[in-house]
Amino acid sequence: MRDGFGRTIDYLRLSVTDRCSLRCIYCMPEDGVRWLEHTEILRYEDILRLLRIFAALGVKKIKITGGEPLVRKGVAGLIGEIKAIAGIQQVTLTTNGVALKDQLPDLLKAGIDGVNLSLDTLDRARFAEITRRDALPQVLQGLEAAWSAPGLNLKINCVAQAGRASDWVALAGLAKDHNLAVRFIEPMPIGLGGDLETCTETDIRAALEAAYGALAPFNKTLGNGPAKYFSLPDFQGKIGFISAVSHQFCDQCNRVRLTATGYLKTCLQYDVGADLRPLLAGSDEALQAAIQAAIQNKPQAHRFSEKTVENREAHIMSQIGG
Ligand code: SAM
Ligand code: SF4
Repeated sequence: MRDGFGRTIDYLRLSVTDRCSLRCIYCMPEDGVRWLEHTEILRYEDILRLLRIFAALGVKKIKITGGEPLVRKGVAGLIGEIKAIAGIQQVTLTTNGVALKDQLPDLLKAGIDGVNLSLDTLDRARFAEITRRDALPQVLQGLEAAWSAPGLNLKINCVAQAGRASDWVALAGLAKDHNLAVRFIEPMPIGLGGDLETCTETDIRAALEAAYGALAPFNKTLGNGPAKYFSLPDFQGKIGFISAVSHQFCDQCNRVRLTATGYLKTCLQYDVGADLRPLLAGSDEALQAAIQAAIQNKPQAHRFSEKTVENREAHIMSQIGG
């Protein structure tokens, strides 16, 4: 399926809940938010119906997100059913890792293709500061379980915060002895992310090169998105950068998002798209037409650097899915 600017849209980020076991400072307020009622969240059968329509329109890859997707009961079962939809080639999950160790066996049985683990530091006190929960030991157990799972594509996503070179260097070190990708994400000014003191890819690269040597560009594709990858001398894994702010990549955008309430969101920055939930009472044809119309009108690019932007997204990241 192509959007109004000729971009192929084949990747959907599916949020299954707005709830979370952590309270990351750039994502959720300390007191949480008003959680959605269970009745406001799409039922699994509705999600599967919508995904069959998306798949018929050309979506091939699904990322399960949240809130924290592993807090919703039965996510592994949902993944197994999504894997069985004709046309879906890949189902992956992004998680904070707190419940990963316990749930990984079921996720693997369901056929999960990859896991992105969000982790910003290996320092326990610093982790508690960022996430407002003392949960690093559980997350590390999840990480170890994931890197021991044969064939599982594992990526670590670090939202890079200014002046935290020791965190970046320690995290990158995980790719030395393990075949995984450690990716550094520039904080985006969405929701609470706008309050964060930012740093850029250039700052992070300088810190990593001082610690480990020159980063060499790695030109093969490793994922579905805009990350650029590099190798380091004697490293098994790769280092990646997702720099939406300093290196805008909207011209290659391949994705749309479906929120836990059934809103099809066509660009991270704007509150534009289509509310599919009311249409669930009608036909598949009407849903398909609404999806096509929303994708046709997908915005051309974000304007993160501008202060006043029409239709700017007012939701926080945990309500959108990242
Ligand atoms: N709870 C899961 C997790 O943390 O992976 C899934 C949802 S979380 C909203 C998805 C991703 O968005 C995480 O990797 C998180 O670090 C990232 N994220 C949240 N707020 C962000 C921001 N303001 N800028 C950049 N990334 C952000
Ligand atoms: Fe939860 Fe993920 Fe947001 Fe952190 S980034 S508060 S783990 S949803």
